[in-house]
Amino acid sequence: MISQQQLSAMAENVAKIRETMTQAARKAGRDPAEILLCAACKTRTVEEVSASAALPIDLFGENHVQELVEKTDAGAYLGKPGHFIGHLQTNKVNKVVGRAALIESVDSVRLLEKIEHAAAAADLTQDILIEINIGEESSKSGVDADELWSLAQMAMEQPHIRLRGLMAIPPAAAQPDETRAFFARMRELLTQAQTRFGKELNVLSMGMSGDYPIAIEEGATIVRIGTAIYGARDYSKK
Ligand SMILES: *Cc1c(COP(=O)(O)O)cnc(C)c1O
Repeated sequence: MISQQQLSAMAENVAKIRETMTQAARKAGRDPAEILLCAACKTRTVEEVSASAALPIDLFGENHVQELVEKTDAGAYLGKPGHFIGHLQTNKVNKVVGRAALIESVDSVRLLEKIEHAAAAADLTQDILIEINIGEESSKSGVDADELWSLAQMAMEQPHIRLRGLMAIPPAAAQPDETRAFFARMRELLTQAQTRFGKELNVLSMGMSGDYPIAIEEGATIVRIGTAIYGARDYSKK
């Protein structure tokens, strides 16, 4: 069960975030309506997530296949889309294809092949983003920027995959101006991708609780926010 107090805190948080999103968009001369709020709800319960789904959140992002399955089966998103935003193991692709409206974290040829195979078998077209390891951190998933073009070319050639854009998580330790430079670099890569492959590649997923206003100023179309909506994550329960 979630308390009335938790509920009103969440409602206040989301209202504040939407206000900040609007301000950041206006500051950059952008239409606030083109930026979606993704609630990054890893570790949150079905009850928490379904309570938050009544708030002005556009979609939900899951890092773990088990949580995506559990929450979609329970109808926790109240009909809103669910995205997969975590590292996806190839042996779990079957559970995600068709269930996630967008797989944001595609970062290898092997994963791309598995998604194509599963989407073909299910007779559907799976929307994906390619995840870029924009800070070139050895600990992070995502492709390096120079590997992007061969993977994107391959994605464009798959009959059951629709490449929609790019996603990134810049280094956590970066200073705000460094973070801004990473976001700006992502925007450049998306522009280059549009030149090569077409304007339908128009999704740029970047920005989290600590840096989403900067991400919006630099061109994000999806911001993925967890802590600022639900509070600090408690991993001890998992
Ligand atoms: C957890 C997570 C987020 C949200 O992080 P917060 O700092 O809690 O807002 C965004 N994107 C991804 C991929 C995540 O795993």
